[in-house]
Amino acid sequence: MSSMEPAAPSALRRFAVLLIGAALLAIGAALTRTAGPSPVRAPFAFPAVLLFPLYLAALRKPLDFEYRKDAQSVTLVQLPLVLGALLVTPWLHLLMCLAAQLVDSLLLRRDPPSKFLYNAGAGAVEVALAATAVGVMAATGTPSPAIWLVLLIGILAGDAIGQLALQSILALLGRRPSGGEIRLTMIVNLISSTVFTSAAVVAISAAYTEPATLAVTTALALTMGLFYRAYRKQAAREQGAEQLYGFVRGLGPVSVDSQEASELLEEARLLLHCRHLDLAVCDERTGSWHHRLASDPDSAELADSRTTLREAPAAPEQDNSSRQITTSLLGSQGLVGVLTASGRLGTTRGFELGDVRLLETIALELATAFERGRLLADLRRSATLDGLTGLPNLGETERQVELLLTSDSSEVVVVAVSVDSFREVNDSLGHQVGDDLLVEVAQRLRNACPSGVVGRIGGGRFAVAVGALDTDGAALFGLSLRAQIEGTAQIGAVDMHVRLSVGCATSPDNGHRAGTLLRRAEVAMFSARQAAGGPVLWEPAYEISGQRRMAVVTALREAISNGAVGLAYQPKFDVASGQVTGVEALARWTHPALGPIRPDEFIPLAEASGLIGALTTSVLRDSLGACARWRAAGLEAGVAVNVSALTVLDPRFVSEVAATLRETGVNPTLLTLELTESVLLRDPALAVERLNELRTLGLRLSVDDFGTGYSSLTYLKGLPVDEVKVDKGFVDALAEDPADRAVVRAVVEIAHTLGVRVVAEGVEKQEQQDSLASLGVDEVQGYLLARPMPEEALRRWAAQLPARSRAAR
Ligand code: C2E
Ligand code: CA
Ligand code: CA
Repeated sequence: MSSMEPAAPSALRRFAVLLIGAALLAIGAALTRTAGPSPVRAPFAFPAVLLFPLYLAALRKPLDFEYRKDAQSVTLVQLPLVLGALLVTPWLHLLMCLAAQLVDSLLLRRDPPSKFLYNAGAGAVEVALAATAVGVMAATGTPSPAIWLVLLIGILAGDAIGQLALQSILALLGRRPSGGEIRLTMIVNLISSTVFTSAAVVAISAAYTEPATLAVTTALALTMGLFYRAYRKQAAREQGAEQLYGFVRGLGPVSVDSQEASELLEEARLLLHCRHLDLAVCDERTGSWHHRLASDPDSAELADSRTTLREAPAAPEQDNSSRQITTSLLGSQGLVGVLTASGRLGTTRGFELGDVRLLETIALELATAFERGRLLADLRRSATLDGLTGLPNLGETERQVELLLTSDSSEVVVVAVSVDSFREVNDSLGHQVGDDLLVEVAQRLRNACPSGVVGRIGGGRFAVAVGALDTDGAALFGLSLRAQIEGTAQIGAVDMHVRLSVGCATSPDNGHRAGTLLRRAEVAMFSARQAAGGPVLWEPAYEISGQRRMAVVTALREAISNGAVGLAYQPKFDVASGQVTGVEALARWTHPALGPIRPDEFIPLAEASGLIGALTTSVLRDSLGACARWRAAGLEAGVAVNVSALTVLDPRFVSEVAATLRETGVNPTLLTLELTESVLLRDPALAVERLNELRTLGLRLSVDDFGTGYSSLTYLKGLPVDEVKVDKGFVDALAEDPADRAVVRAVVEIAHTLGVRVVAEGVEKQEQQDSLASLGVDEVQGYLLARPMPEEALRRWAAQLPARSRAAR
């Protein structure tokens, strides 16, 4: 007889199952009624009531066969069955059998009624068929080979009917055992029935000639049974040890919520021979418990999910019983989880001490694997994420952009963003404030692009990548990023302005690989620093000079610290008197290998690479030094120094200028600082503040390249400046273009009402100078009157000027 597992079927099916059990019972009873008395006469008195304890013992102590996840229980009921069929009247035999089933199934095992009914019915059919088989024989008095044969046939027939009923019940309950499982059950039943029936017949036959042998054979059978149990235990232990070794050996770092963890759990379940293995893991952040469950696929209530996840608020109870055993998973930081096995398969005894030990071993191994998995994940995180902002670092950003490129067949826009003034904030307000600024910008970027790639690619530099936009879109996207991120930010106690420079590169136009696109976006971004923040779209021209840029920046850094950057001085003249009013200091540098390099090339590079501050310092010192020397030589000429936007906004610049003036002993009124309009555009409020501070030193301020920027004339009104320099672009076509003349005229008009002098630069022709004079421009500067020249040359040039031209302003 095989045991049947309870399930959770519908009411109708449950009723059908009850019907099958009842039908079996009815068939058994009917057959028993027709069965004649046994033809065999016992040579000794065999009280029928002895069958009850024999049946009960056979039912209570089944022999287990375990093969991987299949478990077969075989009972030794053939012994009381043969005894009963040969020595007891069919009705009494049936009564004893049913009584034993009742006690075992209903009272001790607490099976549901349907299961008891099936077990009782199957037992009744076996008893009846065995009795019928023996009854057809002619009375012989002693057991013969013929009796043995019919008895065997009767018992096997009873077995077959019971099996058939069982398979129909399983089918009704929705469990379809595999063909292999059915075959295994059949074979085990056939063999065990044949062997045990034969053994019983032989034992009883022997008792006919010598009743005392019954005691010997019973003792022998008992001993063999015990041996078998011992062997089974040992074999199971060995098999378990081998499986455990296999389990442990294959165990690497595992993440708790990975598919691998589910597979491991299933493997552990098989090792433990249990129906359910539940792993409860505590979520560090939420404190709630997540359950991961590995279940026997044959368990009807969980038939569709082998491992499932559910959430529970509290930790699972931890107490052990024969039905369920539990142990905790301990990691280096305490309780990691709780592992619970329930429903021991293939045994009627439930869990034993050995199972608890096995569970503990498995828990220990799992805890180690999960711990290592966690460490590995941490390591991976720290290798791919930026520690400060939590954004992907450069390598990870590149990987994610690459992913975006392969997943998005259309365009991808890669934007490089630099936080201007990050360096200055860091230097002047400390690293903590600088860090907070970056965290704030990172947050704003993430909010602005919730679906795109956002990463930190360097100190104050970030990258953003989004798909499906055209090139027009790149510029607009860059602009919208600026609009969303720029503005005031409260960092600690400080209110600061966030300003960005933005460069873009698009795929497929500007490249196909993430690395190329990121680099090109960054090149465009550096350019954007000189274009009021951009966005600047990358162009092939940037690439051509890429290597040269590197070489230039490296050599420039060295040249500045060695004082190898020189100066040329270009005079300015008063239009009305023709006198020299001062000179403009212009940086000059010759690269050791590349030859002379124009300021138009190295000044933007110095700005982009952070060298401009040092360069300005050296120009300021050198030109004021020259100014002092000219004065000593009798030439009273002021000097104008060009100052970049970034330098003007630097709060340390004012004190630096003051110190240099003091050191060189030059009268502050002789110094003019030339600033471009972009200074004023980037942060007007701050710029005006700085300009006022500079002006209180007593020096003059000039707006360079006037007319090229976005500023309008009305800007002039609020600015503390002394001079505007009309850009060369307006001067070039002055004779031909009436519009240019109109601009210059307007500039002169407004400047004069504000008390600001107007200088025209890049004057190359006499006609230009004549026009400028007629428009009321105060001063001119250009190749027509004088080219930029070194300090000594300027002194000699000035010495040969007519005396009236030499006088200073
Ligand atoms: P800028 O301040 O507008 O300087 C005037 C530029 O025009 C100078 O070019 C000068 O040599 C050139 N120039 C003067 N007269 C004429 C003319 O009649 N015709 C033509 N075609 N050009 C004329 P340079 O020296 O190449 O300087 C270029 C720019 O580099 C400057 O433009 C200025 O913005 C920047 N720069 C030069 N030295 C420094 C410096 O020490 N610091 C900073 N921050 N910028 C500098
Ligand atoms: Ca200038
Ligand atoms: Ca200029």
